[in-house]
Amino acid sequence: MNTIDGLKIVLEFYKELGFERLPLNYSGQQSVVSNQGVKRTEPFERIATVGGSSRSRSSNSHKEALLKALRDEIGDCQRCKLSKGRTHIVFGEGNANAKIMFIGEAPGREEDLQARPFVGDAGQLLTRLIERMGFKREDVYIANIVKCRPPMNRDPQDDEMSACFPFLDRQIDIISPDVIMSLGKISAYMLMGVKGPISKFSITKVRGRFYEYKGIPVMPTFHPAYLLRNTKDKWLTWEDAQAVLKKLRN
Ligand code: SF4
Repeated sequence: MNTIDGLKIVLEFYKELGFERLPLNYSGQQSVVSNQGVKRTEPFERIATVGGSSRSRSSNSHKEALLKALRDEIGDCQRCKLSKGRTHIVFGEGNANAKIMFIGEAPGREEDLQARPFVGDAGQLLTRLIERMGFKREDVYIANIVKCRPPMNRDPQDDEMSACFPFLDRQIDIISPDVIMSLGKISAYMLMGVKGPISKFSITKVRGRFYEYKGIPVMPTFHPAYLLRNTKDKWLTWEDAQAVLKKLRN
């Protein structure tokens, strides 16, 4: 493939992700010209063993059984006040043996209605990102910090996150992914175990570097809903995704 053909593919990819223009005066870590995505071929390669396909089938079914038992245990949960306004609990979905988990903040309106995570506009953007990373949506596992929709899509509050987080913690234990991509400020705040008020925590300052949750690398990045409003920052999330792919290869 010559340079022009390669550049065409890269541009088509960015168009699919929804970039409206090339940030030629971009002030982030790298310019378009030097952006890793231009020279590297990762966006167009598939990871050799996606979705934990190198892991045993019995292990997968065992994990599925554990996840089902956890969902049964949650039942018609009333452990926090978010139970009052929800239509459905959004437990999470995907491959029980996934190598990568994507963890957002809370269900929105569409997610609440469909009982599935990331199915609205932000979910479509996340799905495109997952596919461009070389996975199918069903290869990975997608969940949120809280499982019920906060009223008016407000941020989940401390007591709600404290009540619900143990369920996510157990999902992570069961799935045992190789890497987690946390989506948005609240997800990063919880998974990084930050002390202090969330109002002082900035996703912009922590994204792009790996942290750990119980020994699992966590890459904080922007929430897809934020990226829908701030398209110029999609480049940064793509850089974060490439770092995750590199971590998976290693
Ligand atoms: S958000 Fe979590 S803890 Fe609160 S009611 Fe829903 S499932 Fe239960």
